[in-house]
Amino acid sequence: MILVFIESREGKIKKFSLEALSEGKRRAGEMNTEANAVLVGHGLETLASELFPYGASKVYILDNTLLSHYSSSGFSQALFSLVEEIKPDVILFPASSLGKDLAPRLAAKLGVSVASDCTQTATRHGKLEVVRPIFAGNAFVTLTFKTSPQIASLRPNVFPIQGPGDEQGEVVKKEVVIAEEQIKGQVVETLREEGAELDVTEAEIVVSGGRGMKGPENFDLIRDLNAILPHSAIGASRSAVDAGWMDHQHQVGQTGKTVSPNLYMAFGISGAIQHLAGMSSSKHIVAVNKDPEAPIFKVADFGVVGDLFQVIPHLKEELKKVLAE
Ligand SMILES: Cc1cc2nc3c(=O)[nH]c(=O)nc-3n(C[C@H](O)[C@H](O)[C@H](O)COP(=O)(O)OP(=O)(O)OC[C@H]3O[C@@H](n4cnc5c(N)ncnc54)[C@H](O)[C@@H]3O)c2cc1C
Repeated sequence: MILVFIESREGKIKKFSLEALSEGKRRAGEMNTEANAVLVGHGLETLASELFPYGASKVYILDNTLLSHYSSSGFSQALFSLVEEIKPDVILFPASSLGKDLAPRLAAKLGVSVASDCTQTATRHGKLEVVRPIFAGNAFVTLTFKTSPQIASLRPNVFPIQGPGDEQGEVVKKEVVIAEEQIKGQVVETLREEGAELDVTEAEIVVSGGRGMKGPENFDLIRDLNAILPHSAIGASRSAVDAGWMDHQHQVGQTGKTVSPNLYMAFGISGAIQHLAGMSSSKHIVAVNKDPEAPIFKVADFGVVGDLFQVIPHLKEELKKVLAE
């Protein structure tokens, strides 16, 4: 059986969880088994029915008030007990910040390995095979597992969502037995940035600026594009973040976030290897840079060699026209 961890926040299932579930369902079909989902927390019952249309045959709910907020020790303990009981062959996580924290902790408790941030999965001889980028995205490695359960986390925005269909399934609610001392650390407060937009990892379009933006005030040009493009978020290179022009949560790259949007727009970003590590799996890449030799053009589908301060206003006007049609 394939078990997929479902991440939710503020009563909403995260889109990347449905991507992982859809991929789990595809693999389950090939393995002649079923894909089941697991929710961990408190008061999540209403979310279970939202998962059946995306391929979950069963939804496990691991409930305890102590798990109302994420804690890696509490969540991994709850999952460990379930895995020991139902013995899944494969466990999939979204490779979100939470998933990348939780999957290795569960794997360590089980004494098995984990493949993080995978961009492809397949079935070989009835077992899971995954592909993941290595060396900051410059090479890809194909892995199979020697240990069971086979645990992998899947990069957001890479795997297509299948459904919704009209399937129904079974809800299995389990009260988790956990002592307060077992929760070693916990999220006590989540601060939302004022006027907060979409997170870069969840956006369908990421509009990013780098050192070429020249100063924080010029990020208003990026904000203008963000405002007219639906489902978009603002990204930044590390140089722009280190200079204090943008918050770290916007940073894309090896030491920032990994994004795979449908469209990534890079303005005044050279395309250093550490930046490419976080965005080269985007489906379409547009780069504007005044240096024709900038490495970003090697990964760009569309490139403009020019001054971003001239290009962005034109682009904005053209986008407005197209979006109004
Ligand atoms: C361990 C490590 C981890 C790192 N992690 C990250 C990471 O997560 N993310 C990240 O981004 N970087 C990361 N870096 C830094 C990375 O190596 C680069 O220094 C950084 O990405 C460069 O940012 P940039 O492209 O904005 O700046 P630059 O490299 O300075 O490029 C600016 C670009 O803007 C162009 N430009 C200037 N003016 C204009 C204009 N008017 N119009 C058009 N184009 C213009 C220039 O031609 C140039 O190509 C990391 C580095 C290390 C060592």
